[in-house]
Parts: sequence; C-alpha cells; structure tokens
Amino acid sequence: SEPALSLRDLRIWYGHERGAVRAVDGVSLDLMPGETVGLVGESGCGKSTLGRGVLGLLPEGAGHAGEVSYKGRNILDLKPKELRALRGPELGMIFQEPMTRLNPLMKISAHFEEVLKIHEPELGKKASRNRALETLRGMGIPPTRYHQYPHEFSGGMRQRIMIALALVLRPAVVVADEPTTALDVLVEAQILRIIADLRRNFDTALLLITHNLGIVAEACDRVAVMYAGRLVEQGPAFDITTKPAHPYSRELLRSTISLSTVELHSIPGAPPNLVNPPAACRFHPRCPDAMKVCAELWPPTVATGPARRSECWLHGTQDIPAGLEAPLER
Ligand code: SF4
Ligand code: MG
Repeated sequence: SEPALSLRDLRIWYGHERGAVRAVDGVSLDLMPGETVGLVGESGCGKSTLGRGVLGLLPEGAGHAGEVSYKGRNILDLKPKELRALRGPELGMIFQEPMTRLNPLMKISAHFEEVLKIHEPELGKKASRNRALETLRGMGIPPTRYHQYPHEFSGGMRQRIMIALALVLRPAVVVADEPTTALDVLVEAQILRIIADLRRNFDTALLLITHNLGIVAEACDRVAVMYAGRLVEQGPAFDITTKPAHPYSRELLRSTISLSTVELHSIPGAPPNLVNPPAACRFHPRCPDAMKVCAELWPPTVATGPARRSECWLHGTQDIPAGLEAPLER
C-alpha cells in the first residue's frame, strides 16, 4: 500500500546569532497506514522539531527544504488555513502535558463535543457522543465519567483522555511526542498498549517520539534512530533493539538496558551543538569505533538487512581510502 506520509530529504533550521541550528538535516522516512514508527534519540537531536515539521507546526522564522508529503501535497507548502483544516481530522498530535491542553473549567464531554462539532458537524449529537464514548472506552475510561472535570482524574487518566481526544477524529497520521514521559512505568506500558491497539483499529500511522529504546521495543513496528539531525539507522523495531548495526543505536540500547539493571552505562560525551555539528560522521567524537575516515568523509548509507539501513563506515560496503582505516586519535 501507499505510505500515509513520506518525508523526503527533509531539512529544518532555525536562525541563531552564531549561525543556523540545523535541527533536521536530510531525513527521509515513510509512515505506512496502521504502523507505529518509533523516533528515538537523546534530547536535542532534532526529533521534536521533526515531529512538529510533520504537522506543519514550525515556529515563525524556521527555514525548511525537502518534503513532508501527505496525499500528494507538501505539508510545508500549505497555507495556514489549509493546514488548520488538516490538523485534527487528518493529522493528530498527542502532547506531553495533558494539563496544559485540557480546559479545567470544561467537562470531558464538552471537550469532545467541541472537537467533533468543529471537524465533523455532519455527525450530529447522538453519533458524536457515541463516537466519544467508544474512543474513551478504548482508552479504559468508562462512560460513567464522561461528565466529570479534568481535575477529577489521575495524571495517567488525563493523558488517556488527551489521546482519545486526538484519536476521536480518526486521523490518518498521529505524532505523539514523549506522550508518557511524565507517567510511571506501569501506566506508561498500559497506555502504549492501548495506543497500539487503537491505531491498528483505525489504520492510523503513528510516529512515536521517545528517548527510550525500551518503549520502542514494546510498542513499535519500526524504529528510526536520530542523531544530530540525521537518521543514522532505521528498520524493524525487533531487529534494531536486539541487533543494532549503528554504533550510536548500540550505545543508546546499552544505556537503556543499564537503566533497568544495577550496572550503569551512559554514552560518553554530550550530543553535539547543532550550530556547528562535527564534520563527516557527526557521532565520531563519541563513537568507540571511530576511524580516521569518520572525521573526514561522510559515511555511506548501507542496507544492513531486510528493510534496514544504517549510515556508517563500519558496514564495509564502500572502500575506505588508504591510511584512513586507522583508529581515530582523540
Ligand atoms: Fe562510528 Fe565511524 Fe560509524 Fe560514525 S561512521 S558511527 S564514527 S564507526
Ligand atoms: Mg523533545
């Protein structure tokens, strides 16, 4: 089938007094209907900017190139009015802090009625109510609580209500940016399971942004690993979370696993500043396997398995110029 959404060589940058911040720097990715793709990386790698770009929600003054293609149109070229018409019914977003998005003075029912009245007026009152209750039930919120106020719910329940609000219009594409980060681990696992069921039922393509590779292993079909504005590796979630090919994915996975054990592993160094990212492979200052070539020439993108690709000199399909195979001295 056709992708629900395609990114092609997407670039997004912001002005900064010391030069442009290249937050997204040449990203290509397809989202298929009904598929959950995990976008992972440390904070500051550009993943939230990418998520906002998908929804045409870039801040004033951000520059962009390449395509976010949805139903044959580039979202980045649409006028604000055209975008507003898509956002909600076709492109949904699940935010991190539900309290800032639910109106404390409005009952839950009023939130759903408002959204459905604006975007699906033809549905009518009764069908709207049924749609809202069905979506809430899918998120584990019983109909008896429909007329309660946001403060009467726990944090986890409010987040599920927010997710139901995003899904009640049955959007084709949903971006969820760290949707469960503020919640405890059990609630997080439960919500991710529910999201996975729902998008399967509605054929929604879900881009799940997270810094946690463990979540990806549990809730995603595919994963895209982002580092310094680039997708350094992508492929099936199971394959990448069990056998990562790219050194950065491997280090990220080790640090995720060590969080749940006694041993501590963190990736040495810090994510680079995106005004002046390192030359050639951007991971070279932190990479345990770096060779001289990594600091001089852009690494090739290599198919490392079925539906997998990784951007690294280690994969050995392209000749490394003589003398540059030696370990990088730092
Ligand atoms: Fe490490 Fe070199 Fe691969 Fe970059 S290209 S991840 S520095 S081995
Ligand atoms: Mg973020």
